[in-house]
Amino acid sequence: MISTTNILKDTLEGKRLEEEEALFLLEEGDFLELGKAAAYICNSLHPQGVATFIIDRNINYTNICNCRCLFCAFFREGDDPEAYVLKEEDIYKKVEEAVEKGATQIMLQGGLNPQLGLDYFTRLFRGIKKGFPVTIHSLSPPEICHIARVSGISLEEALGELKKAGLDSLPGGGAEILEDEIREKISPFKIKTNQWLQVMEAAHGMGMTSTATMMIGSEEKLIHRIKHMSRIRKLQDKGGGFRAFIMWSFQPGNTEMGGKHIGPLDYLKTLAVARLFLDNISHLQGSWVTQGKEIGQLSLAFGANDLGSIMIEENVIKSTGVSYRMTEEDICHLIKKAGKLPAQRDTTYRIIKEYYPSN
Ligand code: SF4
Repeated sequence: MISTTNILKDTLEGKRLEEEEALFLLEEGDFLELGKAAAYICNSLHPQGVATFIIDRNINYTNICNCRCLFCAFFREGDDPEAYVLKEEDIYKKVEEAVEKGATQIMLQGGLNPQLGLDYFTRLFRGIKKGFPVTIHSLSPPEICHIARVSGISLEEALGELKKAGLDSLPGGGAEILEDEIREKISPFKIKTNQWLQVMEAAHGMGMTSTATMMIGSEEKLIHRIKHMSRIRKLQDKGGGFRAFIMWSFQPGNTEMGGKHIGPLDYLKTLAVARLFLDNISHLQGSWVTQGKEIGQLSLAFGANDLGSIMIEENVIKSTGVSYRMTEEDICHLIKKAGKLPAQRDTTYRIIKEYYPSN
C-alpha cells in the first residue's frame, strides 16, 4: 500500500524515489515525517553537521530586457527612464568593493538586452579576471542563448568564448518551472525547457559546473514541480555537473502576474521532497532571500545544508518589494541556532573559513 511511511522507509534504505511516489509525498505526505527523512539524508550526505554560506555580490549589469516575463518586477523597456546598463568601470568598482568585503564570487546577471553581445561579456570577464581574485559564476541559460543569438554564433561557441574569457560557472536561473505548459503562461518569450537543459548539458560537457534552480508558487501544480526535478535528475545522471539545487518562491509584488506568496509549509515540504528526490545532487540551498531568515533557518531542518549568499547586493528580489538583509554574523548566528556548524564556502563548496572550533 502506498503511504508516507512505506515510501520513506524505502527511500531511506536507498531506493530511488519514483515520480509518482514524490508526488504522493508532496500531496499527502506528513510534514514532520518528511522533514525528518530529508534531514536524515542531508546528515548522511554531510555528516560533519556543517551548514555553509558564501560571500558574493550579485551585479545586475542591465535591467533592459525584451523578454517581459510576467513574474518579473526587475526588467525595464529600453526607453524607460529607469532603464540602465552599468558602465564597465562601475562594475569593476563593485567587484573591488565586494572583494574587500571578503567576496569570493561574483554573479553577473541581467536582462536580455539586445545591445549586449559576446564582446561586452568577454571584455568584462577578462577585465575582472585581470584585476581580482574572484570566481565568475554568471549568466544563466536564457542570457547564454541571448548572447549566442545577438552575436550570430552557436550556443557552444558562445559558451566556449565566455569560458575562455573567464566564466567559471553557470547559475541555474531562468529555469523557473521546466515545463513548457507553465513557461507559456509565465514567460512566453523565454527559452523553453529543452533549451535550458541544452545550455546546462553543453556547459557541463565543457567542464563547467553549475547550479539548478526551481521557482515555485506561480502557475504550476505539484506535478509540475516533480516533472521539473525529474528533468534535473535525469540530466545529472548523464553528466553530474550540477553542484547544488536551489529553490525559491515567486514574489508577486510589482509584477504583472500578481497573486499570493506561497506559505512556509509548502516551501519546506517541497524542499524536503527535493532532498529525497534529487539523490544525485550533493547540496541543497534554502532561500532566506525569498522566505525570510526564520524559514531560511528552518530549511536546515528540512534537508538544506547551505544558505547561499549573504548578498552584498541584490536587486531582482528587491524590485518586488521584498528585502531581507543578513551579515556574516547574522548568518552564523542563524546556523548555530539551528544546531549546525557555520562555515564560509567557495563556489565549489570548499570550506574556506570555519566559525567553530576544529578538532
Ligand atoms: S526574468 Fe529575466 S528574462 Fe524575464 S523579464 Fe526579468 S530580466 Fe528579463
